[in-house]
Amino acid sequence: MYGSLEVIDFHTHFPVKNSTGQQPKDPHPRLAAYARERGERMRREWRMEPPEPMADTPQEIEGALERWAQEVERYGLRLVNFVTGRDNDLLAGLVARHPDKFMGFAHHRLEPGADRELERAVDELGLGGYKLLGPRTDYAFEDPRLRPVWEFCAERRLPVLIHFGFLGRGGGVVQHPRMSPLSLFEVARNFPEIPFVIPHFGAGYWQELLALCWSLPNIYVDTSGSNQWIRWMPYPLTLDDLFAKAYQTIGPERILFGSDSSYFPRGFAVRYLQDQLRICYSLNFPEEDVRAIFGGNAARLLGLEGS
Ligand SMILES: [Zn+2]
Repeated sequence: MYGSLEVIDFHTHFPVKNSTGQQPKDPHPRLAAYARERGERMRREWRMEPPEPMADTPQEIEGALERWAQEVERYGLRLVNFVTGRDNDLLAGLVARHPDKFMGFAHHRLEPGADRELERAVDELGLGGYKLLGPRTDYAFEDPRLRPVWEFCAERRLPVLIHFGFLGRGGGVVQHPRMSPLSLFEVARNFPEIPFVIPHFGAGYWQELLALCWSLPNIYVDTSGSNQWIRWMPYPLTLDDLFAKAYQTIGPERILFGSDSSYFPRGFAVRYLQDQLRICYSLNFPEEDVRAIFGGNAARLLGLEGS
């Protein structure tokens, strides 16, 4: 328990090399420098320690797994859900070592035939959802060739977490046909059985995400990360504003806590948990809603027993 709460971190990345293609492989040197500059600036603002290199060898990966298990113990978390971890086989093997502490999502390209790998990842490997990046997706979600993917997710009520909005850092993506959460509208409306989770309050696409949530009951919001995209809105916006608005409109049953933790030495980004809990309590959310946001909703979506 974290205090009196059963906290589930719905959105974490296992710190392994070649995990997720958030940055282009060979950026222009000017863009690489700008990304470094932005990264350093953020570390200064947030007083973050520079990340250690990602685990690569089997021994390093083993070490990272045990360090994460210790983080779960240290903070008394109920569960950490890794949404990426190099590939489905590796991640499934890792989370299976500590099934009381970890779960994992499948993460592979959304393309015709992706349903076969998803079915294997879920049924054979035991992964519990599907993670995608909208601005890294080559096919329109409603492309008929992808229909078997959504049919499988609907049949299993499989949670699908899709990043929309700003992606990366300096040189990051701001223009793409699947940039906005609204690009999911047709599929999410045709498959209301699928719980779609949009992280980081929409990462710059807050208005679009609210519109999607207004229309559809199967859209969830995750709170993960620093959410510093709010600085790039053309009007003042704070994390408190995001929580208050999400609570009043979407409702507490569709808000999920996540940290977006991704590297050591930081490990579990407890600071985001502390900040977000303070905000929820200062907004006078009832205790049962706080419980739902920080663990109960995730337990329901992940199909955990006793929830
Ligand atoms: Zn993430």
